[in-house]
Amino acid sequence: MNTKNIPFYIISCFFALILIGCEKDEAPSSYLDYQTIAALELPFNDDWFVVWGGRTKAENYHASLSDQRFAIDVVQIENGSTFIGDGKQNEDYYCYRDTIYAPGSGQVVEMVNSVNENVPGKTNKNQLFGNYVIIDHGNDEFSVLAHFVKNSITVEVGDLLDKGQSIGLAGNSGNSTEPHLHYHIQNKPSISRGDGLPAQFINYYANDFFVSVGEPLRNQTIRKK
Ligand SMILES: [Zn+2]
Repeated sequence: MNTKNIPFYIISCFFALILIGCEKDEAPSSYLDYQTIAALELPFNDDWFVVWGGRTKAENYHASLSDQRFAIDVVQIENGSTFIGDGKQNEDYYCYRDTIYAPGSGQVVEMVNSVNENVPGKTNKNQLFGNYVIIDHGNDEFSVLAHFVKNSITVEVGDLLDKGQSIGLAGNSGNSTEPHLHYHIQNKPSISRGDGLPAQFINYYANDFFVSVGEPLRNQTIRKK
């Protein structure tokens, strides 16, 4: 894959990494051997590229944060780039306004829908997750999906969701330098609380190989079917 345009995002993330604290190693976790109880499917259609994902900080800048210990960030790429045109507006990005779906059934326990989106290259350090949804799957497993388009989230706190139900549109709100989806599971129902849990998805493709149960890794292209 020609990745010449990917570094814009990756370099931005490295800046984020510097801001968050380069000196930190992976956050200690009691859940390294944890297996996800909820039957999770990838929360999108089509091909998505894993910018950050995996167990080590080298693969995944989130790994130094307890709640985001096993998080992933994903974008869409065509011809080696995440955008067309000059990339100066969110609409230039391939994943922008792509529909995001509930990865598993559950109840919405927290939702924010009113955060303005960023201009690409800028971030919002005051509202890190931007517009986001937290879904309670039971068994102390809570999915966090973040950075949605402002007012695009179509579910409310208390709603019972079916797996695969649409919940909103991928955007660029919060601590985000360009449109992407952030996803992780944690063991508490409130944002930035609790410990992250490994998120294992069922029945997806990674670099065209079928995965019955697995965790998306950095630089993989993943899709549901
Ligand atoms: Zn993220």
